[in-house]
Amino acid sequence: MILILILVLILVLILLLSFFCVKSQKSNFINRSQSISFYNSAQASKFILDDDDNYIKNMSNYDLIARLNYTNNVTTNIYKIMSSKDMKEFTKLEKNILMKLTKSISKLPNMPNINFIKIGNLYECGFPHTRQNIIFIPYAFFLKDKTDQLNTLMHEYIHIYQRYNQKETELFLNKYGFKKIGNFSNLFPKEYKWRRSNPDIDENIWQSPNGELMFPIFSVIPPTNITNIKNDKMEHPYEWMAYTFSS
Ligand SMILES: [Zn+2]
Repeated sequence: MILILILVLILVLILLLSFFCVKSQKSNFINRSQSISFYNSAQASKFILDDDDNYIKNMSNYDLIARLNYTNNVTTNIYKIMSSKDMKEFTKLEKNILMKLTKSISKLPNMPNINFIKIGNLYECGFPHTRQNIIFIPYAFFLKDKTDQLNTLMHEYIHIYQRYNQKETELFLNKYGFKKIGNFSNLFPKEYKWRRSNPDIDENIWQSPNGELMFPIFSVIPPTNITNIKNDKMEHPYEWMAYTFSS
């Protein structure tokens, strides 16, 4: 009788322990998926100079002309150094604004930790964008109203989701009629020279639901501005997805 009682007690203990283990794993996971942090300007400058994803290294001459608005002797190295000096510090208030806003963003699955970097007007002409698990926020973001801020953040969160969930993203886009054709530089070397580098899209050419190939290229050659593009939303299905589901 005592033996049975001890056995039952052990069983209850095991059940209780496994329940708490599962619970704590789950809450860790949720915390991790919601975790955000902020780079200071020194950390941000280092990221730009390291250029681990080769984003700046792979820019074309047209890319540099469009970004710096002049044609003489610009190199990717010069752009890298100039950009590294355009990294800003978040104020306490700005950090609080971002922390509050991210709480109201609907949670996307399989997201990495998110880092924020604050930028000025020079690097990428001050447009919000993402690289790796980093969202680049221009100082002008904090002058927008709350709805605009939320839409921008959601848009950038979707880009991070796409980068870390490429297969799921492709299946999702297939359902909406987009089709991946293949590597841009291999399939279309001529058009590739006119590309507008965008860190938020992949290296492929896609076909839109109406059967047209989508080329992420400048609409004016040589470009006069980073915004020289026919249609922001239809540049690439990743942009279509981010614009469609962030507003
Ligand atoms: Zn975008």
